[in-house]
Amino acid sequence: MTGVDSHTAGTTGWEYSPAPERTRVAIKDEYGLFINGSFCAPKSRRRFDTINPATEETLSRVAEAGPADVNAAVEAAKAAGPGWARLKPSERAKFLFRIARRIQERSRELAVLETMDGGKPIKESRDIDLPLVAQHFFYHAGWADKLAYAFPGRTPRPVGVCGQIIPWNFPLLMAAWKLAPALACGNTCVLKPAETTSLTALHLAEIFQEIELPPGVVNIITGAGETGAAIVEHPDVKKVAFTGSTEVGKHLARSVAGTGKKLTLELGGKSPNIIFADAAIDQAIEGIVASIWFNQGHVCCAGSRLFVQESIADEVIDKLAHRMRSLRIGDPLDKNTDVGAINSSTQLKTIERYIDAGGDEGAVLHEVNEQPLPDKGYWCRPCFFTGVQPSHVIAREEIFGPVLSVMTFRTPEEALARANNTPYGLAAGVWTNTGSKIFEIARKLDAGVVWCNTYNKFDASSPFGGFKESGFGREGGRHGLRAYVKF
Ligand code: NAP
Ligand code: MG
Repeated sequence: MTGVDSHTAGTTGWEYSPAPERTRVAIKDEYGLFINGSFCAPKSRRRFDTINPATEETLSRVAEAGPADVNAAVEAAKAAGPGWARLKPSERAKFLFRIARRIQERSRELAVLETMDGGKPIKESRDIDLPLVAQHFFYHAGWADKLAYAFPGRTPRPVGVCGQIIPWNFPLLMAAWKLAPALACGNTCVLKPAETTSLTALHLAEIFQEIELPPGVVNIITGAGETGAAIVEHPDVKKVAFTGSTEVGKHLARSVAGTGKKLTLELGGKSPNIIFADAAIDQAIEGIVASIWFNQGHVCCAGSRLFVQESIADEVIDKLAHRMRSLRIGDPLDKNTDVGAINSSTQLKTIERYIDAGGDEGAVLHEVNEQPLPDKGYWCRPCFFTGVQPSHVIAREEIFGPVLSVMTFRTPEEALARANNTPYGLAAGVWTNTGSKIFEIARKLDAGVVWCNTYNKFDASSPFGGFKESGFGREGGRHGLRAYVKF
C-alpha cells in the first residue's frame, strides 16, 4: 500500500500514523519505597498492582508503605533536615536547578509513563504537564537564595518535615507543586502519590539519586489512604500539604486540629464558565472544550458549569455539539488523541452514576461523539447536559469527569449569583469583549483563579488555590512560599 492509500484505508476513513511517543519506557516489575536516598522493600511486605487504564494491563507492582515504613521515611526526613536547612541557599538552588534540568532531559520518558499509568493523552502530558513540572523546579530554584526578598523585614526559617499527599489527575505536576517550594525554603519532605499513579513520582526519585540530592531530603512512599493518614498523623511531620477531595481534606483538617501542624488544602471544585452575548463565540467554545474535556475532566478547576447568556444559547449549544463530535477519543499514547482513558474503574463508575442521575432528574443528555471506543480500558464519552436546574445534582456536585452542565442566564447579576451559588470556589472563566464587564464580574466571583477569555492557563509564578470548600493556602508564586516558612 502506498502512504496515501494507507492513510485513507480503514473503516473510520482517516487513520493516523502511530505517535513517536510509542517508545517503550523501561518500567520495572516492581518498585520499592524511596527512603533516605535509596529504594527499599516495604517492611509491610505488601504490594499492589498499578495498571494502564487504557488497556487494563498491569504495568508494575508498587510497594504499600505500612506504619513502620512511614516512620522510617519521616525519621529520614527529620535527620536530613538540619543539614539541608544549613546548606548555603545558593547551593540548595543548584540542586533544584539540577532536578529541573534532569526532568527536561528525561521528559519524554516521564510523559509516556504519566500517560501509561494515568490515561491522559500524550499531547497533554508532553506539552502541558512536563514543561510545567520543570518550570516549577526552575522557578523555585530562583527563590531559594532570595527568600529574604519574598518576606521583607522578616527572617524566614524552614518549618521542618513536610508531609505531602497528592491525587492522580496531575501526578508529577502535583509532586512538583509540593516539593519545589518546600525544598527551596529548606524543608525536607515525605511525599505520597495516589495509589493509581505512583510511577512518575518513583522515576522522579531516580532523578534525585542521579543528581545526588542528599539522602533523606525527599522520601517518596507509595500506598493507599491509610499510608496518607499515617503521614499526616506522624508527630514529627510539621506541615501537611494535601491535594485531593474535599471529603478527605475535611477529615485531615480535623485530624491536625490542635496539633500545631501547618496545613494547606487544595480540594475540589465546581467551576463556572460565563459566556456573555458579546463574547467571541468560537474562541469561547475552544476554551470550554479545553476547560471540561481536557484530561477527561479530571481537573479540579474544570469548568464543569457553563452559564450562557440566553440570546446566544442555541448557537453555543450547536457549536459545542459540533466540536464535541470531532474530539478524538482513544489510545492516550496517540499524539492525535484529545480524550484519553478515565483513570480507574472506580472513577468511571462514579462518572456513570452522575450521568444517570442527570437523566433521572430530567436534564437532557447530549452525547453526540460516535467514535467507537476501545474494547478494553475505562472510557467515557465527553458529553453535556442542557435543561439543567441549579438544584440538580449534576449542577451541584463535583463529577471529576468529562460531563458539562449547561445553563442560561439573562443579566450579569443573575450570572454572578448563579456562578457563586456553590460550596466551592476554585476557579472561574469569563468570556466577553467588554473589558469593564470582565473586571466587574471577576472582582465579584468567589474563586481563587478567574480566567478571562481563556481557561486552564498555569504558571509557576501565579498562585493557585481555592475559596470556601475548595480549600485554603496557595501553591505557586510568592504566596505559595508562605506555607513552607515560619518566622
Ligand atoms: P482523594 O481520595 O482525596 O485522594 C487524594 C490523595 O489522598 C491520594 O493520595 C489518596 O490516596 C490520599 N488519601 C485518601 N484518603 C486519605 C486519608 N484518610 N488520609 C490521608 N490521605 C488520604 O482524592 P482523589 O479521588 O484521589 O482525587 C480527586 C479529588 O482531588 C477531586 O475532588 C479533585 O477536585 C481534587 N483535586 C484538587 C486539586 C486542587 O488543586 N484543588 C487538584 C487535583 C485534584 P489513594 O490514592 O491511595 O486513595
Ligand atoms: Mg495506573
